[in-house]
Formats: sequence, C-alpha cells, structure tokens
Amino acid sequence: MARKTTTTSKSQNNIFDVVIAGAGYAGLAMALALKSALPSLRVAIADPRDPRAPSNDQRASAIAASGRNLFTALGVWDDMVVDAQPIEEMIVTDSQTGNAVRPVFLTFEGETESGEPFAHMVPNQTMVRILAQRGEELGLEFFCPDRVTHFTLDEPFQTLKLASGVELKTKLLIAADGVRSALRNLAGIQTVGWSYGQSAIVCTIAHSEPHHGKAWEHFLPAGPFAILPLPGNRSSLVWSEKDADAQRLVNGDEFTFRMELERRIGNELGDLSLDSPRQCFPLGLKIARDFVRPRFALLGDAAHGIHPIAGQGLNLGLRDVAALSEVIVEAARLGQDFGQLDVLQNYERWRRADTVQMAILTDILNRMFSNDIAPVRLARTIGLGLVDRMPGLKKMFIGEAAGSKDQPRLLQGLAL
Ligand SMILES: Cc1cc2nc3c(=O)[nH]c(=O)nc-3n(C[C@H](O)[C@H](O)[C@H](O)COP(=O)(O)OP(=O)(O)OC[C@H]3O[C@@H](n4cnc5c(N)ncnc54)[C@H](O)[C@@H]3O)c2cc1C
Repeated sequence: MARKTTTTSKSQNNIFDVVIAGAGYAGLAMALALKSALPSLRVAIADPRDPRAPSNDQRASAIAASGRNLFTALGVWDDMVVDAQPIEEMIVTDSQTGNAVRPVFLTFEGETESGEPFAHMVPNQTMVRILAQRGEELGLEFFCPDRVTHFTLDEPFQTLKLASGVELKTKLLIAADGVRSALRNLAGIQTVGWSYGQSAIVCTIAHSEPHHGKAWEHFLPAGPFAILPLPGNRSSLVWSEKDADAQRLVNGDEFTFRMELERRIGNELGDLSLDSPRQCFPLGLKIARDFVRPRFALLGDAAHGIHPIAGQGLNLGLRDVAALSEVIVEAARLGQDFGQLDVLQNYERWRRADTVQMAILTDILNRMFSNDIAPVRLARTIGLGLVDRMPGLKKMFIGEAAGSKDQPRLLQGLAL
C-alpha cells in the first residue's frame, strides 16, 4: 500500500531540530531515543524505503543484553520479544564442510547472569515495524519514500535537499544511511577498510527437530556458517562464501541449495526446508576516520560496517544511538547548541575505542578462520583450549566487549 509522504512547502514547517537520513534500525532507534526524552524536539526522518511499509529483509539480528536494555527503555522491547527467540547456548566449531565430527572451539557457559540468555534473535522485519510504529506514536515526521541528495552548512543550520525537491533546515543532520553512506561522502569523511571477497547468504530454514535455543557457528574454510534459533522449529542462517559461490547458491535451484545446506548442517536438526527467500549481502570492513563534523554526525553502519561473524554490527549501532542521544539531550537540557562540533565530539570520543576494538577483533577472527592453510589450521588447533579461556573473545560474541563501566544510560535500561 502506498504511504502518504509528509511533504510540506518551504516554510517554517521545514525547520527541524534534528533530521535523520536513513530510517533503518539505527536511524529509527535514534529518532525514538530523542522523541522519548524530549517530546517537543522536532525530529524528521527521510528514507527512500518507507519503514512503515512491509520490509523484505530476511535477516534476524542477535540483540545483546545492552541492546535489549535500550529497547526496553524506549518502550518497544515488550512488542519485539513476542517474535524473538532467546539464545540459551552457543557453540563455535572449527571444522571443514561435511565433517561428521566438528572440533568445538568455544563454548559459552556462565558468561551471562544465571537465567539470562546470551542474546535474543529478533527478526529484522519485526524490529523495523515496531520501531516505525512507535515513531509515528511519538510524532516523528516521516519524509518517506525520499532521499537526502545534498546538504550545505548554512549556520546555524544544515540545509538539506531531498530527491523530491523538498528543502529542509536542521540544527543537526544525522547520517544513518548505511555502510555505503552517500552522506558520509558528501561530508568529505574518509574511510578505512576493504572487501572480504565474501558474501553472506541469508535465509530462514524450517527443521523437523527442535533447536533447544542453541546457536551454532561453524568456522568453515570459505567463512563462518551460523545457524541461529528462531521461535518454533525454525532457524536463521548466515552463511559466508566467496562472492561468486554465494551468488551461484542464491540464484541456483532450491534442490542444490538444500543439498549444500545439509552437507554443512549435518543431522542435528532433522529434515530441512527453506522457509524464506534467499538473500545475499557482500561483506567488508569500513570505518569512518571521523564520526562528526559541525552539525553533522554519522551513526550505525554509516560510521562502521563490520563482518557479521560475531553478530555485533547493529549492537555497535545501538551503542552509538545511546551515546549520541545522551550527548544531545544533555546539551539541550543545559540550553546548549547540540549541533556544535565540541558537543558532537563528546559522542565521537565515547564511541571510537569500542568501534575500533570490535572492527579489529572481527577482522582477525575472520582472516584466521576463513582459510584452510595447514600451518594456520595447526596453530588454531594448538590454540583451541587457550582461546576457550579468553574472556575478551567470549565477551565480543555476547556483545559486552566494551565492558559495563561508563555505559550510556539507555544501555543500562535507564531513561534519558
Ligand atoms: C548477513 C548479516 C547478518 C547480520 N547479523 C547481525 C546480528 O545478528 N546482530 C547485529 O548486531 N548485527 C548484525 N548485522 C549487522 C546489521 O545488520 C547492521 O549493522 C545494521 O543493519 C545497520 O543498521 P543501520 O540502520 O546503520 O543501516 P541500514 O540498515 O543499512 O539502514 C540504512 C538506511 O538508510 C537508507 N538510505 C540510504 N541512502 C539514503 C539517503 N541518501 N537518504 C536517506 N536514507 C538513505 C536506506 O534505505 C536504509 O533504510 C548483520 C549484517 C549482515 C550483512
């Protein structure tokens, strides 16, 4: 169903406190954080894809405890959890395709409080629907479908042009337009990164045997292969292959795909069938050299795109949301101009170390395991027991690598 686009003429109505480019997961969560804390703030969001329309994203995201706290504080977790599956156990193996026995590399026991799951698997379609609904309830102004094409600093505002020709003015422009962020380029912000030459195949599978809340990640020679539990006898797959092989598997016939799947999954889950279309996501690392400019901030994947090997990309984005919203709200309450560079730099300082740490860990892990070179394999085998006792690596998998000190309020489940 076509949605009404909010397009007001060039007037006072088009002056906003904050405009967010990108109504993805990070952009919407950011809008909710601001509107929940300061309801009178005028916040608009623009996206070529309307988040209020049904989404085609077949992924599900592992949301760590801090992300769950943030969604709870924003009043959306109770609605999300209805479709979510707790991950009760996680097993990481180092093996080869078709191995009957897979050497266990990492097991997780006691890394979280007793009775607390490691994470919840939340379907991305559920997440975006609930975030957009809550945005509408809070009076968020949608410019969707539309896209930001240009912006210029015109103190004390950024003046934005949308593809429809609408012009907006805002005290702060937040770019949450994803890993290929056009706004980051327009702001002249450089990135560091590379492609992994791998793509992730994503789909939902149905199986005859229950998963018992267990998540598996097999480090196979072509890349990590994760089977992540969803409600019922269903699981979400994130299967990394070299780019060309991934394309062949996604576009090829379903029978061959299922055969390849069975070679990798084995008998653990019984009979398998596809329960969603297959999708393919190219994988790379891309970190912005700066996160802020005057009246401009990068958020989520626009600031940092990482490998999904540990399911931490969006969790990083939610940590950005918590830090940036706290910086903005505190400044606004003190009567300061929150678009000023020195205010925004507090956000950058807060987020830089955690982001770089996660990028490096995921990069090393992917390089170390996405190959079958004999000496590397031997080194991995020798190191197995040691690594299982490495708390840093385990914490990365459960999204708590940043530690709990100095956490923004929303990550602790506290309102701003
Ligand atoms: C296979 C896979 C599995 C993953 N699994 C996990 C997981 O389990 N846990 C986890 O934490 N993370 C996971 N991630 C990472 C996670 O999906 C991303 O970090 C997350 O989607 C980033 O959200 P975002 O809102 O920053 O960007 P996006 O979701 O990319 O949203 C960007 C939005 O910006 C819009 N846009 C683009 N250009 C413009 C413009 N010019 N103007 C306005 N809007 C624009 C786009 O339409 C889009 O809606 C996974 C990633 C992959 C690829």
